[in-house]
Amino acid sequence: MDNNELLKAAADAGFEYYGMLDVKTLELLPEVRDMCKANTCGMYGKNWACPPGCGTLEECQARINKFESGIIVQTMGKLKSSFDYKGMMKILALHKERFQKLNDLLVSQDKYKEILPLNAGACTICKECTYPEEACRFKDKAFASLESYGIYVSRLCRDNGIAYYYGPGTMSYTGCFLI
Ligand code: SF4
Repeated sequence: MDNNELLKAAADAGFEYYGMLDVKTLELLPEVRDMCKANTCGMYGKNWACPPGCGTLEECQARINKFESGIIVQTMGKLKSSFDYKGMMKILALHKERFQKLNDLLVSQDKYKEILPLNAGACTICKECTYPEEACRFKDKAFASLESYGIYVSRLCRDNGIAYYYGPGTMSYTGCFLI
């Protein structure tokens, strides 16, 4: 797939916003990991796709180093109010569905021996994650988040020419595929 085909695939998957991603803009920062450690989301140490289960920043960097290009994708939706938690979860679920769809398409391309998908939020495939007792049940579908790799998502969006915030009453979720 060339860049135009990749962008078309992102549009076909339903993402509102997308663009090519410059791998050099992926900066893995210990301070983002520290935010994970603060555990405001309650997933730290509870999920293979989150720290520390997803590996050290050095291990994450080594995975990223294998890739030369990427695509950044974003779902943006409207909320009834800034407390519309149900609405937020609905937009996240839609984003994850689109992300899986695009992932499956990329994986099916002979051209890509390997891809690295990084998405939004913890992996929620299983009701209860096997971490740390047993291996992940669905390694191919358990996507780590950009944050778990120490990446500031707002900065990544800015550096790749995509907005991060679309104004009051909106919510956006961002992911990327390194190819
Ligand atoms: S697929 Fe299941 S076991 Fe694997 S990270 Fe996700 S929730 Fe955990």
